[in-house]
Amino acid sequence: MTGADLKPEYDIVIAGGGLVGSSFALLLDRLAQGSDLSVLLLDAASPPADSDDQSADFDARSTALSWGSRLIYEQAGLWPALASDVTAIRDIHVSDKGHFGATRLNSTEMGVEALGYVAENRHLGRVLQQALRDHKRLTVCAPASVEHVQPSSDGVMLTLKGAGRDTVSARLLVLADGGRSGLCRQLGIAVQQKRYGQQALICNVAFANDHHGQAFERFTDTGPLAMLPLADHVVGRERQHRGALVWTLADVTEPKSGPPMYSAERILALPEAEFIEALQQRFGWRLGRITHAGARSLYPLSLNLAREQIRPGIVLLGNVAHTLHPVAGQGLNLALRDARALAELLVEAHRERRHPGAMDVLQAFVAAQSGDQLQTITFSDVTTRLFSNAQPALALGRNLGLLLMDLMPPAKGWFARQAMGMADRHDVRF
Ligand SMILES: Cc1cc2nc3c(=O)[nH]c(=O)nc-3n(C[C@H](O)[C@H](O)[C@H](O)COP(=O)(O)OP(=O)(O)OC[C@H]3O[C@@H](n4cnc5c(N)ncnc54)[C@H](O)[C@@H]3O)c2cc1C
Repeated sequence: MTGADLKPEYDIVIAGGGLVGSSFALLLDRLAQGSDLSVLLLDAASPPADSDDQSADFDARSTALSWGSRLIYEQAGLWPALASDVTAIRDIHVSDKGHFGATRLNSTEMGVEALGYVAENRHLGRVLQQALRDHKRLTVCAPASVEHVQPSSDGVMLTLKGAGRDTVSARLLVLADGGRSGLCRQLGIAVQQKRYGQQALICNVAFANDHHGQAFERFTDTGPLAMLPLADHVVGRERQHRGALVWTLADVTEPKSGPPMYSAERILALPEAEFIEALQQRFGWRLGRITHAGARSLYPLSLNLAREQIRPGIVLLGNVAHTLHPVAGQGLNLALRDARALAELLVEAHRERRHPGAMDVLQAFVAAQSGDQLQTITFSDVTTRLFSNAQPALALGRNLGLLLMDLMPPAKGWFARQAMGMADRHDVRF
């Protein structure tokens, strides 16, 4: 839509319509049905056209959604559309190359239909965009950006660009403008950054055999690698069984002489045949021969945490609040749990005629989510450090850990709950 129809004030303005901002807007809209809560969503980027990316793309990027995220999308009324094109994760196989420890998490054993789902990002994006277009109560404006935030007596005053009006006031601003948030910098909200000295190499690969819904987490001499099950890629009569690879590699300079270090840059630059050989050697033959590797890209890995998550009239959501290591596949899943908690509290506050930007409302959000955030962030941080380290003592420790986990159902249940995004829920039995 154009910005010409914007009102001068809203109860809630969401700055950023990425996966998190859009999902939050739709969930809030669903929960606030029947109320007069006014919500505006602004995104700096143009929404993808309906005709974009319709053709099957071998290299399509994907996200692992936990079982907990499925429940949240069900609550938002979005799951039927999403479910039309996701791959269920039935098994997760965790192992250490060349060592004895291994464990397998199984959906039947955990009493759920699937441990999680893999969705291509463009499918997720298309479903969210379509739902935003269909929701008549929600005001969506894109491309339009929030340029400046000025605290006011009743919330914040926002200066806009491309929205058809220069300013709009909000009783609550939900900042969902991503990990490189200019608005966070402008507000002087400091970000604590921890670099892992690693990069994630992302690439889709084709295997000779079907994955049958199995995901793999494998710890290798070069760093941990995850292989998620993706839908087959079909072109004409040719069918390729695909997996989505996230391979964590050291961010080091290769020595001028001596054996190679297998740095991220080196693996990225390998010719396809050599890349496949290096990967096959580490991943093994559980899915047969690797027949093709698609386009490769690198993401530097760090943990970024905003030092403040709330201020009067302002709350941070998604990557702007916490950007996690992608290997554990928790970033969006955690943000969706935050989004659900915030939406539920805001709807309740609105029913009770309380100010949405009041500190007691926002503090209730922090209190509700800080335990889950700490646990998820610690889980992804510790597993990254533990499993990226080739030191013999740590290798022994994690192998014993994997072995024990397989022998001790409560430990396995705890690990599964983390992976499934259900750490804070007790409605799933193990
Ligand atoms: C390689 C990789 C793999 C991953 N895999 C997984 C996974 O398997 N599972 C999982 O849970 N998570 C995963 N993640 C994490 C997940 O992708 C992120 O947590 C999620 O995409 C964050 O979304 P966001 O909406 O917070 O930020 P973004 O996607 O960055 O969106 C921010 C939006 O804000 C808009 N914007 C910016 N500035 C302004 C402004 N001033 N005004 C208005 N709009 C603005 C931008 O246009 C953009 O649309 C992965 C991440 C990576 C890098």
